[in-house]
Amino acid sequence: MPHNSRVKRRLSPRAVTALQQSLLGWFRRHRRAYPWRTTDDPYRIWVAEMMLQQTRIAAVLPHYERFLATFSSVNILAGSKESEVLRAWSGLGYYSRARNLRLAAQKIVADHAGRFPRTLPEALALPGIGQYTAAAVLSIAYGVPLAALDGNVARVLARLHALRGDLRQPRRWSALQRLAQDLLSSESAGDWNQALMELGELVCTPQNPRCSECPVAASCVAHTRCLADRIPAPRRKPRPVTVLIAAAILRDNDGRVLLVRDPGAHDHVLFSRMWQFPAVQVQNHAEHELSMHLSATFGLNIDAFEQLPAAKHGVTFRKVLLLPFVAYVPRLPKLARTRLLALEQLGKVPVSSATRKIAATVLGTAP
Ligand code: SF4
Repeated sequence: MPHNSRVKRRLSPRAVTALQQSLLGWFRRHRRAYPWRTTDDPYRIWVAEMMLQQTRIAAVLPHYERFLATFSSVNILAGSKESEVLRAWSGLGYYSRARNLRLAAQKIVADHAGRFPRTLPEALALPGIGQYTAAAVLSIAYGVPLAALDGNVARVLARLHALRGDLRQPRRWSALQRLAQDLLSSESAGDWNQALMELGELVCTPQNPRCSECPVAASCVAHTRCLADRIPAPRRKPRPVTVLIAAAILRDNDGRVLLVRDPGAHDHVLFSRMWQFPAVQVQNHAEHELSMHLSATFGLNIDAFEQLPAAKHGVTFRKVLLLPFVAYVPRLPKLARTRLLALEQLGKVPVSSATRKIAATVLGTAP
């Protein structure tokens, strides 16, 4: 792979300036109007960046304003209960982001007088903030000259310089980080970072990049060498693992269901310590293993379950099949970390999308 210095030799300062002007001019004409682009409030920019980690823009949009209507300032977020934040985050997935957001808000209030910090070390010391998010927030909110490198930007830079190989390989990623920093337009750091991201999303797309519409085509080595379709090389995806989760929907005389929190019987990533139906990860026999779990955990001996159609749930590289089992239990136990609630009222407590899918199957509202 070419070393960074070779790239510097190839692009003269004048060429770098021309590239910056072309891309920034294009961005100012074509930028999409997202709500986080109409503010210079570091809090609102930070919330957007947290939501956009691992979630598509279209999925973030309906949640963003709603979340900020509830938590309109960093002080309000810092003073809120975790369950309130999780409820507002419901539907976005990866709930550790919501927990970190609240913890970071508390730190910002305690250590930075309620204002998002202005330096990289201080930003990196906040829970849930890595190099990319820190650079994005600091550059967009305060104009700090830091390049924000994500997958989109890495692809654009790799094509601009015709860098081959796996971009996520640590040494290559570090080299891309240096390239990104070298190309950064220091006077317009926030716009520059967003322009590269926007180019990667709209023009320099993973498949079929639209080089004929690209504002930086004249500087792009991959384009001039007809390599754009081959860079970056496709990553070898791990084969998806299928996980079976059996969930018990236990209904009492009043039509309420039993919800539990953190039962510890299965992977936290899936249900993320939110309110959920008692569940087990199935090894061999779903109904039997679920019965054993209910007996051991709640002292409930269920004679008969009604099994409902399975629901599919995807979590990154796992295919999760949710197996709902309904049973009638006249008197449900009231224990610590359990809750009785009508199925229709599930939206009143923080539940994961997997739990909502199971409830929809029971209510007959699944798509
Ligand atoms: Fe990407 Fe093509 Fe533009 Fe190069 S010319 S940056 S490959 S869209």
